[in-house]
Amino acid sequence: MSNENYLIFLDVWNNVMVVGTVVLLVAAVLVFIFHKIRLASMKDLKQKYDYLSQYDIKMQMRSIWFLSGAILFALNTVYKPTMEIHYVWFIVRLFITFCIATLIVYISYLLYKYSYPAKLHKKLKELRYTPRISSKGNKMRLLSEEEEDVHLDEGMQAEEEVFSMDYDVWVDEATGELKIEKYAGHLEANKCNTCGFYTMKLKTEEIIEPATSNSEGEMIQHWSCSYCGAKRTKPIRIARLEEGQEFKLPKTLKFKDGKHIDAVKVHVHLSDGTIREFDFQNAEQAAKFLDKYQVEIDSENAMFKG
Ligand SMILES: [Zn+2]
Repeated sequence: MSNENYLIFLDVWNNVMVVGTVVLLVAAVLVFIFHKIRLASMKDLKQKYDYLSQYDIKMQMRSIWFLSGAILFALNTVYKPTMEIHYVWFIVRLFITFCIATLIVYISYLLYKYSYPAKLHKKLKELRYTPRISSKGNKMRLLSEEEEDVHLDEGMQAEEEVFSMDYDVWVDEATGELKIEKYAGHLEANKCNTCGFYTMKLKTEEIIEPATSNSEGEMIQHWSCSYCGAKRTKPIRIARLEEGQEFKLPKTLKFKDGKHIDAVKVHVHLSDGTIREFDFQNAEQAAKFLDKYQVEIDSENAMFKG
């Protein structure tokens, strides 16, 4: 490229970057404002809960993507006189700014993955446990796990039993009005195609070919619905074994006196650095959960020790 052409190119580049900066900056602000307005426009606390848990991190991250793009474009207009000396400087600037933008996205990603969830969790908990107001304007009371069962049908109870769904039952004690809210449980269960409840759980795994450190394995999963009893089989590939992936939870956990326990919190530190937090109303539930969680982890990582 002749020097003259290069200088023309630089001018065009500069203009494109300026326009791009403005467009991306506007996009970043719009996404953020849209998110906040949408949240504020929701009156129902459960609706806010669902929206935040599904979109809060996604929308903020999207805004950050646009913002980093804007920063990348803006930085590619600086030191223009130096760029005019030689195109090598142009390449150096491009490289450095690209690193900066990548770093911003990466750091934000880490913050949203490891730090922000705790804050979001607190916000969600507040939304979930703020007393609901009945149609008569009375403050409703949240029933305990023991009290709520009479208001849940068998399918709902089966879902709670396998921790796939969690139902909150609010009651207006003056009028008897009920409000049942459905939340995702601590463990995942699949939807049963026969009865429609989230009670399809993995029962056994049959290894056809064990995985080794250098080849994938294969197994057959046997699923069964704990509510209607429907059965299903599914072939699964087993990931290659990696070192340091194994960990164990106690099979059973005993609490000497359940009477004086108001809440039980379980923190599970996974080997990839993530921490999962689970809340329970009583020790019995937590112990039952840990028993099921072991199965869940095993199937999640498809780890088999020979
Ligand atoms: Zn079923």
